[in-house]
Amino acid sequence: MDHLTPALARSWILSTARLIEQNAQHLSDLDAAIGDGDHGANMSRGFQAVAKKLEGDAKADDLGALFKVTGMTLLSTVGGASGPLYGGFFLDLGKQCASRAALDAKDLADVLDSGLADIQRRGKAQPGDKTMVDALAPAIAAMRAAGDDIVTATRAAADAARNAATATAPLLARKGRASYLGERSIGHEDPGANSVALLLDALASATGA
Ligand SMILES: [Mg+2]
Repeated sequence: MDHLTPALARSWILSTARLIEQNAQHLSDLDAAIGDGDHGANMSRGFQAVAKKLEGDAKADDLGALFKVTGMTLLSTVGGASGPLYGGFFLDLGKQCASRAALDAKDLADVLDSGLADIQRRGKAQPGDKTMVDALAPAIAAMRAAGDDIVTATRAAADAARNAATATAPLLARKGRASYLGERSIGHEDPGANSVALLLDALASATGA
């Protein structure tokens, strides 16, 4: 397989909703350690709303519309710091894909890179700040390094995101609520990096990896 089609993208989003639902308690437990404990509930509320919307929306049958409706729904339902970051990310993907029928592996990496830049603009986070950026940036790099086969590329991205999320534990938080804890943020994985790992795992599942 060499392209992300609208059907696969829809399956990516719905698979994300399922994975977030299954891991909501874990995400909230991670957030309880260094934040306010609501990341799982927030993400679950948002992605359940997205799933409901997509199931009843036959119009979202091209990549641009699909990502746009996902972003708008996340913006209005997730709340907290993650709402604007995830919502903005998908709105940016929607803009990038406005006139594209499908994405090959390189296009997909480019589109995700643009979404990452949007997250960094909004959140002002750099790599190493113990945020979602720490999972997303290495995932995109792994996707690029994996080459043209989208199954291999998305699996490489998912594995890199998972490893990178685990590797946020020893980092000192420099952004968001966790940064108020200073040194006490060390030793806990970042909840946002973990939800990004689920997002990438869902992408790999959707392409069949
Ligand atoms: Mg929180």
